[in-house]
Amino acid sequence: MTLLVVGSVAFDSVATPFGQKDRVLGGSANFFSMAASLLTKVQLVGVIGEDFPQEHVEYLKGREIDVSGLQRVPGKTFHWKGKYEYDLNEAHTLETHLNVFADFKPQLPEHFKAPDHLFLANIDPELQLNVLNQVTRPKLVALDTMNYWIQGKRPALLNVLKHVDLLFVNDAEARQLSGEHNVVKAASAIRRMGPRTVIIKRGEYGALLLEAGLAFYAPAYPLEDVFDPTGAGDTFAGGVMGALDRWGGFNEHTSRQAMVVGGVLASYVVEDFSFDRVRKVTLQDVQSRYADLRRFTDFKDLPLPE
Ligand code: AMP
Repeated sequence: MTLLVVGSVAFDSVATPFGQKDRVLGGSANFFSMAASLLTKVQLVGVIGEDFPQEHVEYLKGREIDVSGLQRVPGKTFHWKGKYEYDLNEAHTLETHLNVFADFKPQLPEHFKAPDHLFLANIDPELQLNVLNQVTRPKLVALDTMNYWIQGKRPALLNVLKHVDLLFVNDAEARQLSGEHNVVKAASAIRRMGPRTVIIKRGEYGALLLEAGLAFYAPAYPLEDVFDPTGAGDTFAGGVMGALDRWGGFNEHTSRQAMVVGGVLASYVVEDFSFDRVRKVTLQDVQSRYADLRRFTDFKDLPLPE
């Protein structure tokens, strides 16, 4: 099957309590593709400026990511500056420079127009809708967003959400989007906006999938050393969507497995800056932490009389 993603391809400048890095590779579509390409064929739509290293584009190609939808145009690549305090679950945006994304008009190559699964990664909701309008209806359309767009482009976001099956948000974004404090109520309110399924990412506490009559909780992998949480959300989504694309699409069973695969991949990306750790991850590594998580969460019924 095929998995199409549109999102940011970026330079990130990140400070965490453990160090800082300037202009390292990042971006929602970049993190997503790195994770998903371990599992399935990915087609990438995005834009980069003249300053983006060609060697990274070649690296993506080497991971069999189809980059024919990645346009290079005059100007500077998207640049995000952020920092984390000791609570690593919350990113504080210091600067967002859209640069080449400000005038980006995605033009999908013909062979990108019939994906099985579509991921509208965190980017301007108008671009997300533009891409959605260029494809024949995929089996599943998923979307991710953030406070920047929930606040700055709310009408456009609500518009695209009407066509979305699955929404990925963290708890703060779920609250901001719905106006509800409780995340279960927030998910119900969001489901009335369009998506039938909502996945709430809760950082080191795991992720919760909610739809009518169904809840599934996937714990995060317990790590001793979290170095840089940037990209955890996109990597999680890359694992979830890559697994769904590889193992037959969304159903009650695959969605549970996919949530755990997503959590496992996210557990690798946070162990180092940018893609430094996730570059080296193999399917055997994923399998190993997946098996650990099964053991960590396995428990028997209470031996009480009926
Ligand atoms: P996360 O997976 O949620 O940690 O997302 C981190 C990535 O989001 C970083 O690599 C940033 O380049 C990217 N990013 C930050 N702000 C935006 C934005 N407003 N639009 C698109 N991508 C962004």
